[in-house]
Amino acid sequence: TKRTIGLLFGGCSGEHEVSIASARAIAQALSAGSNAAVYTLLPFYIQKNGQWCDSAIAQQVLTSGQPLSSDLASSDPVDRWRLPPTAGDVDVWFPVLHGPNGEDGTIQGLLTLMQTPFVGSGILGSAIGMDKLAMKTMFAQAGLPQVNYMAVSRSQVWSNPCIYPKLCDDIEAQLAYPCFVKPANLGSSVGISKVRSRAELEAALDSAASYDRRLIVEAGVVAREVECAVLGNEQPQASIVGEITYQSDFYDYETKYTEGKADLIIPAALPEAVTAQIQTMAIQAFTAIDAAGLARVDFFYIEATGDVFINEINTMPGFTVTSMYPRLWGASGITFPELVDRLVQLALDRNG
Ligand code: ATP
Ligand code: MG
Ligand code: MG
Ligand code: MG
Repeated sequence: TKRTIGLLFGGCSGEHEVSIASARAIAQALSAGSNAAVYTLLPFYIQKNGQWCDSAIAQQVLTSGQPLSSDLASSDPVDRWRLPPTAGDVDVWFPVLHGPNGEDGTIQGLLTLMQTPFVGSGILGSAIGMDKLAMKTMFAQAGLPQVNYMAVSRSQVWSNPCIYPKLCDDIEAQLAYPCFVKPANLGSSVGISKVRSRAELEAALDSAASYDRRLIVEAGVVAREVECAVLGNEQPQASIVGEITYQSDFYDYETKYTEGKADLIIPAALPEAVTAQIQTMAIQAFTAIDAAGLARVDFFYIEATGDVFINEINTMPGFTVTSMYPRLWGASGITFPELVDRLVQLALDRNG
């Protein structure tokens, strides 16, 4: 008998549109080649307002590739969290949700309660991977090299004007310019600014604080950006390493998602020892946060000194056919439909 895969996408997150694009690719892969004989697709769409939609609406969103023109809003608030009855038919969930309320342990908590296997990291790995401050603490504990950074809270930025100038003085003294201001829990560069002056720093702190209570400010490095994909549970494997190049100031949202603004170079042209070091660090990072199934680990490589710094881990990386994660495995010999199949099998291995 075929297994029913509950493809869960959209979500209450700044990365809603990216999730739709990833889900379209995965939906196609579930019916490609030998997958068609073993899997039945059952899609579920979570609107930006958090309300779940059944498969008829989900299929419509998958087909159009666009969010609904206006969110359906039930008059009964409890309906917002009510699962469509067909959720009971799902054998394995594939939550292809990026960012808060999906990549951060929240959905993983719900699926854990439902006692149904799901693709990717569990509650802990997802939560740590999404929170850049918690993530950096775990990476430091594992001995992974990182850039200098400072933790900042929204309350420091907003509700206490007396300490605000002191906060900015401290950032300038400890990290200098340029530095990067980020909401702790987000992705796709949403809410991230590169700053070079006090005025830019103030604007950036204000902007990042609108996304999250927890912020991080990092020393900026001039480096090549390289990424490595990890696949597995207890014995995770690292892919070949890829590099991202672009003309813009940094790898911001527009550069990530505008056709032609960034190039993915696979494999990255790196000394063999650097590639090996990055692969080892990627697996250490995966293990350090208790990730499972898949993750993409992002690094900075400073050519002049040979230093490799870990930037971050993403436990549900972009998953369109042109995304780095599936392309790295493609270049490592695993096709997109095979990759989707492997991830479902890993979900069953871990939970079954
Ligand atoms: P993703 O879409 O990969 O989840 P994200 O929103 O989690 O991204 P980061 O990967 O932390 O964000 O940063 C986004 C980009 O900002 C990086 O790819 C890089 O171009 C730039 N950047 C971030 N931090 C630094 C830094 N400390 N020094 C130099 N560049 C940085
Ligand atoms: Mg990220
Ligand atoms: Mg991300
Ligand atoms: Mg990143």
